[in-house]
Parts: sequence; C-alpha cells; structure tokens
Amino acid sequence: MPSGAARWKRVVLKLSGQAFSDASGYSIDGDVVSQLATEIVDARRNLDVDVAVVVGGGNIWRGMTGAGAGMDRAQSDYMGMLATVINALALQDALERLDQPTRVQSAIQMAQVAEPYIRRKAIRHLERGRVVILAGGLGNPFFTTDTPAALRAAEIEAEAILKGTHSGIDGIYTADPRTHPEATKLSELTYMDVLNRGLKVMDPTSITFCMDHKLPIVVFDVLERGNIRRVLVGSEPIGTLVR
Ligand code: UDP
Repeated sequence: MPSGAARWKRVVLKLSGQAFSDASGYSIDGDVVSQLATEIVDARRNLDVDVAVVVGGGNIWRGMTGAGAGMDRAQSDYMGMLATVINALALQDALERLDQPTRVQSAIQMAQVAEPYIRRKAIRHLERGRVVILAGGLGNPFFTTDTPAALRAAEIEAEAILKGTHSGIDGIYTADPRTHPEATKLSELTYMDVLNRGLKVMDPTSITFCMDHKLPIVVFDVLERGNIRRVLVGSEPIGTLVR
C-alpha cells in the first residue's frame, strides 16, 4: 500500500499488558510480541504513520492486585508502572529485530534502559521515523495507563488513540460478551454514551480527557492479524469508534 493511505498521520497505540501475554494473561509471549511489532513496523514503513505506543503492565502487575491484598496502594501502583517498562523493553527488542529504530521513554527515570519522557524529544523521534514506546504511565500512582495514552496523545499532537483489546473482544459491546452472549457490538459511540452507560472501554478520566481534546478512540482487537492496518486505512468497518 502506498504511503499516505492512512486516515491519520500520527497515532497513539495503547497496548494493554495482556496483549503481550499468552492465553494465561500473564508473562510475555515472544510470538505475540513479534506479531505486534511486525504490524507496527508495517504502519510506520508502509503507511507512513507516526506511531507512539503506550504500554500497560497488567500481565505482570496491577496496582489494584496489591492494594486488594492489603498493600499500600501507591507502592503497589509504582510496581505496576515498573511492569510497563518490562513490556516496553520487550516490544523495543522485537521492533529492533525488524530493523525498526525505536526509543523507549519512561515517565519514571531509569537512565540505563530508557530515556526520560520529554515531549519535544518524543516528537522529534517520531518525525525521524522512529517508533516511540512510552513506559511508566504518567509516573504517578492512582492512574492506569489509559490516562497517559490520552494525555500523551494530546501532547504529541496525535490524531487518534488506537486502543487495542485482546481476548477476542473486537470492540465495545452493549454488555460483556463473555458473560452476556446476547450483547451486541456497537460501531460508533459518543464519549458521553461511554460515560453515561458506564461502558468499560477506558478509564472515565481518559474518556473525559479525550472528549475535551476531541481525540477519537478506536477500540479494536489488536491480536487479529492485519487489524492495525485495517484501523489505520479505515476502508472496512472495524471495532468501535468513540468520538
Ligand atoms: N500505573 C500507575 N500510574 C500510571 C499508569 C499505571 O500507577 O500512570 C500502575 C497501576 O497500578 C496500573 C499498573 O501501573 O494498574 C499497570 O497499568 P495498567 O493497569 O494500565 O495496565 P494494562 O491494564 O493496560 O495492562
């Protein structure tokens, strides 16, 4: 496909930690990570899209897991932020094995493995054709990585957030399709629909932020081969668009 065929020039791809894992939902599956890397490289090289990836860490640790077991919430959240760095390094490795120049920037300083997050530098990397992986969330506890996905998108002037789902759920449904087989998929929604109906797409904080900054969100199954390209090209209906 020639360059310029994508509907956005710059996007933030939000990958949950579970998108890195095997069926167990834990750990990191090398084959899955290399499939994701291949598709990101396709977007970068063949569709000429600037890609910044915000990675989650739920395959390794979530703040609420520790808090639920009696840990201090902030301490547990910092563990979650460190988990995102592990995923970021795995994705960087997979991208670089495909000869894709990649930088990891972390909101928690970790000079040996990642640059600090610096907005202007992130933009510069993107302009130079590098994939930027944003780790460490916001660097603050009491958030998930949905909020940094939205915030960084606005900061780096991305035109859309691609929120990759996994576990075979390919968009937003009227109810959880795993427990409600009668649930139907919604092709398009407003931010207010998501908030008012309490749909579990992204954290309400991030939805509100996207609404205020007019950032469209596409929720789609990132593990279905070719889907990142399909979302970017937009010529076939895929996932759910929130705007
Ligand atoms: N986290 C945080 N602040 C942030 C981003 C993440 O405290 O700005 C912590 C939080 O504990 C969260 C964990 O890091 O549970 C992993 O992120 P997330 O749950 O978003 O991962 P995902 O569900 O996307 O895999």
